[in-house]
Amino acid sequence: MDRRRLYIDGEFVDASDGQAEPTRNPATGAALCEVAKGTVEDVDRAVRAARRAFDEGPWGPDSPPRERAAILHRVAELLRRDRETVAELETRDSGKLYADSLADVDEVAFMFDYYAGWATKISGSIPPVGPDAVSLVVKEPVGVAGLITPWNFPILMAGQKVAPALASGCTAVLKPATHTPLTALELARLLAEAGLPDGVFNVVTGPGSVLGNCLVTHPAVDKISFTGSTDVGIGIQQQAAVGLKRVTMELGGKSPNIIFGDAERPRSFEMSAYGLFFNQGECCTAGSRVLVQRSIYDDALDGMVEAARALRLGDGMDPSTTMGPMVSAAQKRSVENYIDIGEHSGARLAFKGDTPTNPDLSGGHFVPPTVFAEVDNAMTIAREEIFGPVMSVIPFDDEDEAIHIANDTPYGLAAAVWTTDLRRALRVSRALRAGTVWVNDSQPVPAEAPFGGYKQSGYGRELGRHGLEAYLEAKHIYISMSG
Ligand code: NAP
Ligand code: MG
Repeated sequence: MDRRRLYIDGEFVDASDGQAEPTRNPATGAALCEVAKGTVEDVDRAVRAARRAFDEGPWGPDSPPRERAAILHRVAELLRRDRETVAELETRDSGKLYADSLADVDEVAFMFDYYAGWATKISGSIPPVGPDAVSLVVKEPVGVAGLITPWNFPILMAGQKVAPALASGCTAVLKPATHTPLTALELARLLAEAGLPDGVFNVVTGPGSVLGNCLVTHPAVDKISFTGSTDVGIGIQQQAAVGLKRVTMELGGKSPNIIFGDAERPRSFEMSAYGLFFNQGECCTAGSRVLVQRSIYDDALDGMVEAARALRLGDGMDPSTTMGPMVSAAQKRSVENYIDIGEHSGARLAFKGDTPTNPDLSGGHFVPPTVFAEVDNAMTIAREEIFGPVMSVIPFDDEDEAIHIANDTPYGLAAAVWTTDLRRALRVSRALRAGTVWVNDSQPVPAEAPFGGYKQSGYGRELGRHGLEAYLEAKHIYISMSG
């Protein structure tokens, strides 16, 4: 079987102990290829290569911004050149729809252009400290960044960390999720082809509990940017505290999607369904709690059920598929368990779809789209992140109650508001405790704007200018004019 290797110090190499494990296609269960299973020695080598490339160059604080920009622009071009091969790998490795993988690759190409543009515009300031001194505030890269990514948007999550990290002058070691390592390794190939010097970017694949842990505790790593579950994020933060590493945490969510009685129809219903079923519900921003005003409750519920019924489960490479499988057997079991909990919770099962009958897909991890109605926000299915195609529809009477229910969650990643009343849209947007609020839309995450969570959805921001700042320190240089 074909084997994909770690990318360390400009070379594709086997794991130090030669071990490898297959990565699988979640639509069929078939092995795609073997992937090197990195060790702590490999992480150490990768970190030391990144450290050297930062401390001694060619990257780091003294690297010419325009040279960094030129390489990042080239990466964007190469991603566009190879968009179809990279997207196909993404779909085969993760199960997501091919059209969505293409969109992700295109967005990552845009991110490289976007942050290439920033590289030459990172500048500090000259605060007025009085007549006896001149103060310069200069922005410098944080150092070696450890980047840990999840399996639901593999290349997108890698891109939104790697592009700003490299643009700022940081060097990096990326640890992608075990279920979906292939496009991170493709990114390494394209970065190398674009002329990125050895050691600046490294990829170590393998188990997060071992490798991620090593990255988080490694004394030569300055910053950790993590996207994943809240539980793992808490553990990482505790470990990172020992070395006082800077951390950015993009964690889970249980996002409210609020449909008011005056919302545009049927768009608000269709898009609310999309907001949960998109990427088979494996989205940190999934609008999994659909709050509906009682005046339109029955119609809205019908709309959700209709949208769920229209979904066609299958292989993401099949153009007629509109919903793919869960990423793994474990994720499928976990989501099925939540459906079981929902069925015994007192909520009403309004719809549960079918899984594919095609024998080629019998080894796939398919979970049927499921809609629960009359959900109480205190129920487990409304409180815990399910990360699958399971919708909770919750009725409300008025705006105050909607805001109260929406904010009654440990999470605060995103929220959507559907209304044709502009004042209400603004009032509710301001009242919601979430890092992103969509009005009359769901799920757009443009690379130009900040993205991140309130409460247990994490802290720090990615994307936009904020995403760049996460990789920068501010240094104050005080120059005395006296004497
Ligand atoms: P996860 O289990 O937290 O894993 C995320 C990454 O962390 C993987 O690369 C994983 O490696 C690694 N990891 C696991 N244990 C680790 C440890 N002890 N120390 C360091 N790294 C460790 O999450 P997931 O199951 O991949 O992803 C689903 C979760 O991600 C959901 O909760 C979702 O909400 C969240 N998510 C959030 C965002 C956001 O932007 N807020 C975006 C996407 C996903 P292995 O794969 O080898 O275990
Ligand atoms: Mg896979």
